[in-house]
Amino acid sequence: MARARLDLPDIRTGNGYDVHRLAPGDHVWLCGVRIEHDRQLLGHSDADVGLHALTDALLATIAEGDIGSHFPPSDPQWKGASSDRFLAHAARLVREVGGAISHLDATLICEEPKVGPHRDAMRARIAEIVGVDMRRVSVKATTNEGIGFIGRGEGISAIATATAIFPPSGEWQDG
Ligand code: MG
Repeated sequence: MARARLDLPDIRTGNGYDVHRLAPGDHVWLCGVRIEHDRQLLGHSDADVGLHALTDALLATIAEGDIGSHFPPSDPQWKGASSDRFLAHAARLVREVGGAISHLDATLICEEPKVGPHRDAMRARIAEIVGVDMRRVSVKATTNEGIGFIGRGEGISAIATATAIFPPSGEWQDG
């Protein structure tokens, strides 16, 4: 079969998922925004599930493994780290291979805190970290309807999708 349509942009989509446990505390970090809360998210870094899911989604667009392979939790230098550096690293890797980040979409799944009042601040912060217009960043939230570990307030999870556009390349289009 002949190589087909090598002139077309190479659009790739990646997904990411993360979860962190909640414990008594006084704030959580979600999508790069500090929110006062009577709980905290536990993790090796600042445990920002939203930024972690987005980081994995961006890495997936270039098949570059996951956040754990780039920033191993066993490495003490990432203890308490601000997760914006993880996301910025993923964005840099995408750009290094010629990628343009077209769109990011994150969904936070939690009973508390309420995400709505912070949604636009989250979008703006993600856009700033990644270096795109905030109109290219979507943040959504839903509860888990009181079901399961999220419903019991034991943790918060996040899923994310990233779309990036790469220059036309024939190297993987043989078929
Ligand atoms: Mg994580």
